[in-house]
Amino acid sequence: MSKSLDPAAGEYGVAVEAICVGCRQVRTKRYPKAVPEAVSLGQSFKHVCHRCQKATYWNVRDVLEEESR
Ligand SMILES: [Zn+2]
Repeated sequence: MSKSLDPAAGEYGVAVEAICVGCRQVRTKRYPKAVPEAVSLGQSFKHVCHRCQKATYWNVRDVLEEESR
């Protein structure tokens, strides 16, 4: 599975691996918070899912390293 960032994930926030509660697909998204310390596993956040074709909730499965620091 590719860990490359979803182009639709957005430019801001913490890169996370997340699972859609609607269709159960796992994608890399950006959690809309600035600091990785604020994101913990199992947290849910609202984000657009293209398979569901609407905004759904995503549960954080993994917090990814930021490439630039
Ligand atoms: Zn979905």
